[in-house]
Amino acid sequence: MSDQIDPAKHLQQVLVQLLPLWPDTSPQLHYQNCWQLLVAVVLSAQCTDDQVNKVSPQLFACWPTPADLGSADFDQVATVIHSTGFFRNKAANIIALSRQIADQYGGQVPEQLSTLLSLPGVGRKTANLVVSACFDQPGIIVDTHVLRICYRLGLGDGKQADRTERLLADILEPAQYTAASHALNRHGKFVCLARKPTCNACVIRLLCPSVQA
Ligand code: SF4
Repeated sequence: MSDQIDPAKHLQQVLVQLLPLWPDTSPQLHYQNCWQLLVAVVLSAQCTDDQVNKVSPQLFACWPTPADLGSADFDQVATVIHSTGFFRNKAANIIALSRQIADQYGGQVPEQLSTLLSLPGVGRKTANLVVSACFDQPGIIVDTHVLRICYRLGLGDGKQADRTERLLADILEPAQYTAASHALNRHGKFVCLARKPTCNACVIRLLCPSVQA
Protein backbone atom coordinates (compact mmCIF):
# COMPACT_ATOMS: atom_id res chain seq x y z
CA MET A 1 0.00 0.00 0.00
CA SER A 2 1.30 3.46 -0.78
CA ASP A 3 2.30 5.81 2.00
CA GLN A 4 -0.65 8.06 1.22
CA ILE A 5 -3.21 5.46 2.26
CA ASP A 6 -4.17 5.08 5.90
CA PRO A 7 -4.66 1.31 6.46
CA ALA A 8 -7.28 1.81 9.16
CA LYS A 9 -9.36 4.20 7.10
CA HIS A 10 -8.88 2.03 4.04
CA LEU A 11 -10.10 -1.15 5.75
CA GLN A 12 -13.12 0.60 7.24
CA GLN A 13 -14.04 1.87 3.76
CA VAL A 14 -13.72 -1.66 2.42
CA LEU A 15 -15.95 -3.01 5.18
CA VAL A 16 -18.63 -0.42 4.48
CA GLN A 17 -18.97 -2.13 1.09
CA LEU A 18 -18.45 -5.74 2.13
CA LEU A 19 -20.49 -6.09 5.33
CA PRO A 20 -23.88 -5.51 3.64
CA LEU A 21 -22.84 -7.81 0.80
CA TRP A 22 -21.78 -10.66 3.08
CA PRO A 23 -23.86 -10.38 6.27
CA ASP A 24 -23.80 -14.07 7.18
CA THR A 25 -21.49 -14.69 10.16
CA SER A 26 -22.15 -18.40 10.49
CA PRO A 27 -19.39 -20.88 9.57
CA GLN A 28 -19.90 -22.67 6.26
CA LEU A 29 -18.87 -25.94 7.86
CA HIS A 30 -21.77 -28.14 8.98
CA TYR A 31 -21.93 -28.98 12.69
CA GLN A 32 -24.36 -29.81 15.48
CA ASN A 33 -22.28 -28.73 18.47
CA CYS A 34 -19.01 -26.98 19.40
CA TRP A 35 -16.96 -30.16 19.43
CA GLN A 36 -18.11 -31.04 15.91
CA LEU A 37 -17.22 -27.52 14.74
CA LEU A 38 -13.80 -27.78 16.33
CA VAL A 39 -13.13 -31.11 14.62
CA ALA A 40 -14.49 -29.83 11.29
CA VAL A 41 -12.23 -26.75 11.38
CA VAL A 42 -9.19 -28.93 12.05
CA LEU A 43 -10.17 -31.04 9.03
CA SER A 44 -10.59 -27.93 6.87
CA ALA A 45 -6.86 -27.12 6.86
CA GLN A 46 -5.66 -27.24 3.23
CA CYS A 47 -9.13 -28.48 2.26
CA THR A 48 -12.39 -26.88 1.17
CA ASP A 49 -15.36 -26.56 3.52
CA ASP A 50 -17.47 -28.43 0.95
CA GLN A 51 -15.16 -31.44 1.09
CA VAL A 52 -15.18 -31.45 4.90
CA ASN A 53 -18.99 -31.28 4.81
CA LYS A 54 -19.02 -34.42 2.66
CA VAL A 55 -16.88 -36.31 5.16
CA SER A 56 -18.09 -35.07 8.54
CA PRO A 57 -21.54 -36.77 8.57
CA GLN A 58 -19.91 -40.21 8.39
CA LEU A 59 -17.25 -39.23 10.91
CA PHE A 60 -19.78 -38.05 13.49
CA ALA A 61 -22.11 -40.98 12.79
CA CYS A 62 -19.30 -43.44 13.53
CA TRP A 63 -17.99 -41.52 16.56
CA PRO A 64 -20.76 -39.27 17.91
CA THR A 65 -19.06 -37.94 21.06
CA PRO A 66 -15.60 -36.71 22.09
CA ALA A 67 -15.16 -39.87 24.16
CA ASP A 68 -16.03 -42.05 21.15
CA LEU A 69 -13.61 -40.31 18.79
CA GLY A 70 -11.00 -40.03 21.53
CA SER A 71 -10.86 -43.80 21.80
CA ALA A 72 -11.32 -44.54 18.10
CA ASP A 73 -9.03 -46.72 16.01
CA PHE A 74 -6.53 -44.50 14.16
CA ASP A 75 -6.70 -46.37 10.86
CA GLN A 76 -10.50 -46.32 10.77
CA VAL A 77 -10.59 -42.57 11.40
CA ALA A 78 -7.85 -41.96 8.83
CA THR A 79 -9.85 -43.91 6.25
CA VAL A 80 -13.00 -41.86 6.83
CA ILE A 81 -11.22 -38.49 6.59
CA HIS A 82 -8.77 -39.54 3.86
CA SER A 83 -10.22 -37.21 1.20
CA THR A 84 -9.56 -34.08 3.30
CA GLY A 85 -5.80 -34.46 2.80
CA PHE A 86 -3.02 -34.65 5.37
CA PHE A 87 -5.24 -37.33 6.85
CA ARG A 88 -2.65 -38.94 9.12
CA ASN A 89 -1.87 -35.72 10.96
CA LYS A 90 -5.53 -34.77 11.06
CA ALA A 91 -6.61 -38.18 12.35
CA ALA A 92 -4.00 -38.05 15.11
CA ASN A 93 -5.05 -34.52 16.07
CA ILE A 94 -8.82 -35.02 16.14
CA ILE A 95 -8.44 -38.23 18.14
CA ALA A 96 -6.06 -36.58 20.63
CA LEU A 97 -8.07 -33.37 21.02
CA SER A 98 -11.28 -35.35 21.46
CA ARG A 99 -9.67 -37.53 24.11
CA GLN A 100 -8.43 -34.43 25.91
CA ILE A 101 -11.88 -32.82 25.80
CA ALA A 102 -13.46 -36.00 27.11
CA ASP A 103 -10.90 -36.60 29.85
CA GLN A 104 -10.02 -33.08 30.99
CA TYR A 105 -13.05 -30.94 30.15
CA GLY A 106 -16.00 -33.23 30.83
CA GLY A 107 -16.75 -33.60 27.13
CA GLN A 108 -17.25 -29.83 26.70
CA VAL A 109 -15.15 -27.63 24.44
CA PRO A 110 -13.34 -25.07 26.63
CA GLU A 111 -14.36 -21.44 26.11
CA GLN A 112 -10.97 -19.81 26.69
CA LEU A 113 -8.91 -19.08 23.60
CA SER A 114 -5.67 -19.97 25.38
CA THR A 115 -7.05 -23.36 26.45
CA LEU A 116 -8.27 -24.10 22.95
CA LEU A 117 -4.84 -23.24 21.59
CA SER A 118 -3.30 -25.88 23.86
CA LEU A 119 -5.30 -28.66 22.14
CA PRO A 120 -3.59 -30.77 19.46
CA GLY A 121 -3.90 -29.33 15.96
CA VAL A 122 -5.67 -26.16 17.11
CA GLY A 123 -4.19 -22.92 15.80
CA ARG A 124 -5.40 -19.36 16.08
CA LYS A 125 -7.76 -19.54 13.08
CA THR A 126 -9.49 -22.58 14.52
CA ALA A 127 -9.65 -21.23 18.06
CA ASN A 128 -10.96 -17.83 16.96
CA LEU A 129 -13.62 -19.41 14.78
CA VAL A 130 -14.81 -21.65 17.62
CA VAL A 131 -14.94 -18.92 20.29
CA SER A 132 -16.82 -16.59 17.96
CA ALA A 133 -19.29 -19.16 16.63
CA CYS A 134 -19.90 -21.08 19.84
CA PHE A 135 -19.28 -18.63 22.67
CA ASP A 136 -20.14 -15.28 21.12
CA GLN A 137 -16.65 -13.92 21.74
CA PRO A 138 -14.97 -11.59 19.24
CA GLY A 139 -12.61 -13.51 16.99
CA ILE A 140 -10.44 -12.47 14.06
CA ILE A 141 -10.37 -15.49 11.78
CA VAL A 142 -7.48 -15.31 9.34
CA ASP A 143 -7.78 -18.21 6.94
CA THR A 144 -6.25 -18.48 3.48
CA HIS A 145 -8.98 -16.33 1.89
CA VAL A 146 -8.68 -13.54 4.48
CA LEU A 147 -4.90 -13.66 4.25
CA ARG A 148 -5.04 -13.32 0.45
CA ILE A 149 -7.60 -10.54 0.20
CA CYS A 150 -5.92 -8.54 2.96
CA TYR A 151 -2.64 -8.81 1.08
CA ARG A 152 -4.26 -7.63 -2.15
CA LEU A 153 -5.78 -4.74 -0.24
CA GLY A 154 -2.34 -3.80 1.06
CA LEU A 155 -2.86 -5.22 4.56
CA GLY A 156 -0.28 -7.75 5.70
CA ASP A 157 2.32 -9.76 3.86
CA GLY A 158 -0.01 -12.50 2.61
CA LYS A 159 2.11 -15.12 4.31
CA GLN A 160 1.90 -14.85 8.07
CA ALA A 161 -1.62 -15.17 9.43
CA ASP A 162 -0.58 -14.11 12.93
CA ARG A 163 0.77 -10.81 11.62
CA THR A 164 -2.34 -10.12 9.60
CA GLU A 165 -4.48 -10.96 12.64
CA ARG A 166 -2.51 -8.45 14.75
CA LEU A 167 -2.79 -5.84 12.03
CA LEU A 168 -6.57 -6.29 11.84
CA ALA A 169 -6.79 -6.22 15.64
CA ASP A 170 -5.00 -2.85 15.66
CA ILE A 171 -7.54 -1.42 13.23
CA LEU A 172 -10.87 -3.00 14.16
CA GLU A 173 -13.00 -2.71 17.27
CA PRO A 174 -13.60 -6.11 18.94
CA ALA A 175 -17.28 -5.83 18.04
CA GLN A 176 -16.23 -5.83 14.37
CA TYR A 177 -13.89 -8.83 14.52
CA THR A 178 -16.26 -11.65 13.67
CA ALA A 179 -18.40 -9.92 11.03
CA ALA A 180 -15.33 -8.44 9.33
CA SER A 181 -13.64 -11.86 9.25
CA HIS A 182 -16.62 -13.54 7.62
CA ALA A 183 -17.15 -10.74 5.10
CA LEU A 184 -13.49 -10.82 4.06
CA ASN A 185 -13.59 -14.62 3.94
CA ARG A 186 -16.68 -14.74 1.70
CA HIS A 187 -15.36 -12.03 -0.61
CA GLY A 188 -12.05 -13.81 -0.89
CA LYS A 189 -13.68 -17.18 -1.45
CA PHE A 190 -16.24 -16.10 -4.04
CA VAL A 191 -14.87 -12.95 -5.71
CA CYS A 192 -11.20 -12.34 -4.96
CA LEU A 193 -10.26 -15.81 -6.14
CA ALA A 194 -6.74 -17.10 -5.63
CA ARG A 195 -5.81 -17.68 -9.26
CA LYS A 196 -8.06 -15.27 -11.11
CA PRO A 197 -9.79 -12.60 -9.02
CA THR A 198 -13.01 -11.36 -10.63
CA CYS A 199 -12.11 -7.71 -10.30
CA ASN A 200 -14.69 -6.58 -12.85
CA ALA A 201 -17.44 -7.85 -10.51
CA CYS A 202 -15.85 -6.61 -7.29
CA VAL A 203 -17.58 -3.87 -5.31
CA ILE A 204 -14.31 -2.70 -3.76
CA ARG A 205 -12.33 -2.45 -7.00
CA LEU A 206 -12.05 1.34 -6.67
CA LEU A 207 -10.47 0.85 -3.23
CA CYS A 208 -8.15 -1.98 -4.20
CA PRO A 209 -4.49 -1.33 -5.10
CA SER A 210 -4.32 -4.79 -6.73
CA VAL A 211 -7.29 -4.38 -9.09
CA GLN A 212 -6.70 -6.05 -12.43
CA ALA A 213 -8.03 -4.64 -15.69
S1 SF4 B 1 -10.44 -5.60 -7.00
FE1 SF4 B 1 -9.73 -7.67 -7.56
S2 SF4 B 1 -7.88 -8.02 -6.38
FE2 SF4 B 1 -8.97 -6.30 -5.42
S3 SF4 B 1 -10.25 -7.22 -3.82
FE3 SF4 B 1 -11.51 -7.07 -5.67
S4 SF4 B 1 -11.28 -9.05 -6.72
FE4 SF4 B 1 -9.60 -8.87 -5.20
